[in-house]
Amino acid sequence: MAKKNIVTDPLMDKLVSLCKRRGFVFQSSEIYGGLGSCWDYGPLGVELKNNIKRFWWETMTHRRDDIEGIDAAILMAPQVWQASGHVDGFTDPLVDCKKCHHRFRADQIEGKVCPDCGGELTEPRNFNLMFKTFMGPVEEDAAVIYLRPETAQGIYVNFLNVQGPSRQKIPFGIAQIGKAFRNEITPGNFIFRTREFEQMEMQFFVKPEDDKKWFDYWRQQRWQWYLELGIRPEKLRWHQHGKDELAHYAKDAYDIEYEFSFGWKEIEGIHNRSDFDLSRHTQASGKDLSYYDEETKSRFIPYIIETSAGADRTTLVCLADSYREEEVKGETRVSLALSPKIAPIKAAIFPLVNRDGMPEVADKIYHDLKKHFKVFYDDAGAVGRRYRRMDEAGTPYCITVDGQTLTDETVTIRERDSMQQTRHKIAELVDIVGARLK
Ligand SMILES: [Zn+2]
Repeated sequence: MAKKNIVTDPLMDKLVSLCKRRGFVFQSSEIYGGLGSCWDYGPLGVELKNNIKRFWWETMTHRRDDIEGIDAAILMAPQVWQASGHVDGFTDPLVDCKKCHHRFRADQIEGKVCPDCGGELTEPRNFNLMFKTFMGPVEEDAAVIYLRPETAQGIYVNFLNVQGPSRQKIPFGIAQIGKAFRNEITPGNFIFRTREFEQMEMQFFVKPEDDKKWFDYWRQQRWQWYLELGIRPEKLRWHQHGKDELAHYAKDAYDIEYEFSFGWKEIEGIHNRSDFDLSRHTQASGKDLSYYDEETKSRFIPYIIETSAGADRTTLVCLADSYREEEVKGETRVSLALSPKIAPIKAAIFPLVNRDGMPEVADKIYHDLKKHFKVFYDDAGAVGRRYRRMDEAGTPYCITVDGQTLTDETVTIRERDSMQQTRHKIAELVDIVGARLK
């Protein structure tokens, strides 16, 4: 069957609507009107995001001998953020409108007047993006701590705690998935830029003279990861930071960008952070975070190659990249062509009709398969409608019990993207579907 791709920009409205309709993502505190730029993951969304995180974790830790995982606390000693430069430097220039009191990032508006009402603007002042809170029962300056704005610092301060027990030798890395918080002035584009978000970061500790080699290696590895995730390569590109873009700690930096309907945007940064982080924490804490190399009998502060991705951002990439609209028999079919390995539901099981013993057979298949992977049982409505619901959920396979099943113990497997159906023995379903999820 000829299929016509009729996806048009902007895609985001359609995605937000599908995500709500199918239970992927909702606005946070929606019954109270929502909280700015905070989102909740529903039943399908949490499966998708967990699958993405799991794939990252497997790639970055389980499949390697040279990376260890950690899960550090969100709340850290406030001195961490002094040493890292966040207290003084993690700011955006902000202007206020004197008339309507709206706030803007000074570097994101053109001209000298308010874009909303034309009113006069204040002079820019620096606004720190870290969320503050208080530890203990007293709300005074001495008790101020921060919600971490990045997970990386939890890795740096634990460098020796991990290196010792794991007996890793340089080069080696530490990986972490966790929440971070930034009080963004202009968040937006659905789950692309949010104030609470989840990072997937890996810090790779190397000899200073090997930094270039490992920087190139990790660029190549991380690019490959998005291809394995099923992202179309023509939607990905590199962006190298110019001298004016480089963060204060960075020697070299590349972003992997994805072409969203709202433009090319960063989805991952690969940074050569030099010896900045461990040097700063050594100075500020008084604890020596240098490394002794047994082979060369020398001591040095390791360089760090960082790979920093966002779990929410990657979820949005997977949703946007997989969204399809096409004409099928005069109707619009919407589907998410997600890679089977990250699809929230791997297979749906349907009885063709609710009689003649079909529900009983389908129910048994459902209970057998659910021991192996996430499956869904649906007997409500015409089978065509059930297929369409699963297309929108991104479910790669639909298994249907029909009249023939009752005579020869075979079922049809309908593949989401091609809509082709093939017949298979019930006894072979776990192996057949399982093999396609790799
Ligand atoms: Zn104004």
